[in-house]
Amino acid sequence: MIDRRQFVVQISAASGALMAGQAIAQPALLSETDPQAIALGYKADTTKVDAAKYPKHAATQECKNCALYQGKPSDAAGPCPLFAGKQVAAKGWCSAWAKKA
Ligand code: SF4
Repeated sequence: MIDRRQFVVQISAASGALMAGQAIAQPALLSETDPQAIALGYKADTTKVDAAKYPKHAATQECKNCALYQGKPSDAAGPCPLFAGKQVAAKGWCSAWAKKA
């Protein structure tokens, strides 16, 4: 039997560990089939973008050189404010791409 005080200590330790785990966990990668991704023509590989549908797209345009990309240049994926809670591929692209200054 554990008494109430021990129980509170154990719960505090467990929730602390849980919060630490959440801080470390990376958000999931954005799926191309996500409704918002479809709406913006997102592709995880910029070379797979439909040229007929997006004539202004160029293969040199990638999330990692987009003004909205929040990841580091060396990261394989990073956050984008257009897809909150998800990570976009560094080599990805969507129709909101804007040249990084
Ligand atoms: Fe990638 Fe930029 Fe589109 Fe975000 S806005 S998904 S960083 S191209």
